[in-house]
Amino acid sequence: MGVSPKKLGTMRVFCPDCRGMQKCSLVAAVGRSDEEFAFIDEFVVCQNGDHLFARVLSLDYERGGDWQERAPRNSERIRQIPSWTNRLRRRRLRELRSLMGEVCTALNGELLVLATAGIRTMLDVTMDEILDGDIRGFARKLQAMQKMGHISENEHGLLTKLTDVCHAAAHRAHRPRRDHVEAMLDAVETLIHRHFVLRRHIDAAQERAPRRTRAATASPTIQ
Ligand SMILES: [Zn+2]
Repeated sequence: MGVSPKKLGTMRVFCPDCRGMQKCSLVAAVGRSDEEFAFIDEFVVCQNGDHLFARVLSLDYERGGDWQERAPRNSERIRQIPSWTNRLRRRRLRELRSLMGEVCTALNGELLVLATAGIRTMLDVTMDEILDGDIRGFARKLQAMQKMGHISENEHGLLTKLTDVCHAAAHRAHRPRRDHVEAMLDAVETLIHRHFVLRRHIDAAQERAPRRTRAATASPTIQ
């Protein structure tokens, strides 16, 4: 089985320097094979920062299927900014997005204290945006969030615990476990997504939906 030549050009692949998907140029591709696999060694330049790196694609002769990138070790642990953050348009929200990027970079570099402190700032900025101003103090902000119906009692409890951990990281250099940091990031991302992205979309979807007709909504009437 031969190795099919690959067209040089641009593609979106993971840049190990940027630690994220980037537009990259494929500058060289070399095929080789052994008894089990066919390989393509690719040499790629990231257009974001001229980062040169290599990646290896392989194809299993027996199993067939598609070319697979040979994952660098720990690649499943690489955290990226969710794609929905592109929808954050307001200036403060764009700043929040850039902060989320820094938190991911810290997390991917196993800088867990910094990532945790960053998550705390993410939550702070998010609450200031939702509450339309800084009312000072995490406890007061969380209370106001619950009172105004932005979070449930349940979520209030969860975010209070989260701020305790973040406080210990920011003020006492406490280093939480990586999976715990990821869970905290999930919690704050969920809040941002629900408030700034999801709600707007559901509102727009409802506006586009045809109104119910009287016949469809009316309960059976007695005549
Ligand atoms: Zn790069």
